[in-house]
Amino acid sequence: MAKKQFKAESKRLLDLMINSIYTHQEIFLREIISNASDAIDKLAYLALTDEKVGLSRSDFAIRLEPDKQKRVLTVSDNGIGMTKDEMENNLGTICRSGSLQFKQDMEQQPDLDIIGQFGVGFYSAFMVAADVTVISKKYGSDEAWMWQSSGADGYTMTPCEREGAGTDVIMHLKDDTDDEKYSSFLQTYELERLVKKYSDYIRYPIKMRVEKSRMKEGCDKDKPEYETYEEVETLNSMIPLWQKPKQDVTEAEYNQFYKDKFYDFEDPAAVIHVSVEGAVTYKALLYIPAKAPYDFYTKDFKKGLQLYSSGVMIMEHCEDLLPDCFRFVRGVVDSQDLSLNISREMLQHDRQLKFMASNLEKKIRQELEKLLKEDREKYEKVYAAFGLQLKYGVVAQYGEKKDVLQDLLLFWSQKENKLVSLKEYTDAMPEGQPHIYYASGESRERLAQLPQLEQLKEKGYDVLLLTDEVDEFVVQTLQKYAGHDFLSATAKDLGLASEEEKKAVEEKAEQAKPTLEFVKQTLGDKVSLVRLSTNLGSHPVCIVPAEGMSFEMEKYFKRLNPDMGMKADRILELNADHPVFAALQLAVAQDPEKAKKYARILYTQALLMADLPVDDPSDYTDLVCELMK
Ligand code: ADP
Repeated sequence: MAKKQFKAESKRLLDLMINSIYTHQEIFLREIISNASDAIDKLAYLALTDEKVGLSRSDFAIRLEPDKQKRVLTVSDNGIGMTKDEMENNLGTICRSGSLQFKQDMEQQPDLDIIGQFGVGFYSAFMVAADVTVISKKYGSDEAWMWQSSGADGYTMTPCEREGAGTDVIMHLKDDTDDEKYSSFLQTYELERLVKKYSDYIRYPIKMRVEKSRMKEGCDKDKPEYETYEEVETLNSMIPLWQKPKQDVTEAEYNQFYKDKFYDFEDPAAVIHVSVEGAVTYKALLYIPAKAPYDFYTKDFKKGLQLYSSGVMIMEHCEDLLPDCFRFVRGVVDSQDLSLNISREMLQHDRQLKFMASNLEKKIRQELEKLLKEDREKYEKVYAAFGLQLKYGVVAQYGEKKDVLQDLLLFWSQKENKLVSLKEYTDAMPEGQPHIYYASGESRERLAQLPQLEQLKEKGYDVLLLTDEVDEFVVQTLQKYAGHDFLSATAKDLGLASEEEKKAVEEKAEQAKPTLEFVKQTLGDKVSLVRLSTNLGSHPVCIVPAEGMSFEMEKYFKRLNPDMGMKADRILELNADHPVFAALQLAVAQDPEKAKKYARILYTQALLMADLPVDDPSDYTDLVCELMK
């Protein structure tokens, strides 16, 4: 029979996987067992709502059957099974969204344990098996099919017989090399060990026939004789970790469970284990990962917690249990109070679910705050991974979650030269500092050169240097923290000048009026206003945005949609105390042609300092050269 080919992408991936070195080949068993458990979940769920299934929870089991003579390990389940089409689609392609990324990583670091991270599922069977046969019969169908493949060269499909619905995965193990590596997967004690290690919490019994020995009945105790017999044993405890009391679970167990279940190969940054009794009774085991999964900031990432109702999984990603700002949290929630045959649509409006969601949000926030307080280094690691998500969370839904999140934010402090929380910033504010100052731009180095920072620094005021695109929106959404409003360092009035100083400036502005008007006329529409500044310290000129949109926002919108033509109004500010201003004033009075050139030079310098595109660089160079002659 002609072999059907795997899809090209899968074929390549399969090759890579099979031929790479693995330190963790043993996880194939976990993957196959977890598929079996999922398949049983599906039928168990059906059985709850449909009497015709005629099976109860205790009828379900996963069976392991090693055959040393044939070098075959079989994993069987009496779950939902697959139709012919499903077998072809599910086993003939690697449909995991992460497969592409996985492939890239594989090619770069072929001996890394990425299998553990990505959980390539069924395909991992090929790490240990030379060929794999899958026999499956879908629940409700009367035909069974056999899928056979020896790896990358394709697969065949043949009709066959199977009693009852379910699936058998029959793995013909590879020949051993020097070690007993593959043969060990046929040893009952090794299989027992692997089930305990990786699949203990699986909620259906994993059964295996094991050989035991006992003393022969009636034999002489001094000269004991033994006989062997076989017994079917259940290998897993079936108690999910989250059902165990906290004190009975070790940190290593928490971490292992996380890594196995959520395909991470790093320990989580924090574990939250809650047991709530009362109006709604539930248990939850939540994890804050230490780093973002590769697809976190893409639309492939699925947020949500696994939802169980009395030990039956009813949803893989229950989105409504997690607010978006905490979408990076992984975990499971199990409640006996949820109706089992609840539909997704009903769940959205479920009161109990809402109650749990709001409780969990609080727990997550508290845990993060605790981490921030007690283990700064770890928190900063988490923040590096998910800080952006927290910021988006602040901005989303018109700031609905800003109170939940504001104390979890960190920003770069110019003064401290490290990340600080808003509380740390405001606690350290010197007497009389009116605002929380910030400057936003592409890089901290550039921002540190802003002329406006000089005066703030002199006063001993710290400035938050914001370099994420979303930062300005965050600040706008927060508006205030601890009674202080946020003020951009490029604002017209930084609140630094005393009343007398302000008056003096106004008088100066009056005097300077003809010069300012001249410059405005020269520059035309390039700027919306020309005015004096009190913030420039030793710098002659700067450009600031008019109220409303900042330059960073302008850049952001431009990237989003270049044709939208969103532009922040530019205001040119001059320093009346700078000698250059005096020169300009003189030129306006005596040599207007020269004064026009001065105006153009100052304007371009301001653009350069603000990191804005220069309209005409060659014009600028010509002007400067002309002056030097
Ligand atoms: P994943 O489990 O992550 O979806 P796998 O490669 O492990 O990826 O499996 C692919 C699909 O094959 C599963 O989603 C499931 O639909 C189907 N499948 C695998 N094993 C079984 C099984 N024992 N019973 C029923 N369906 C299965």
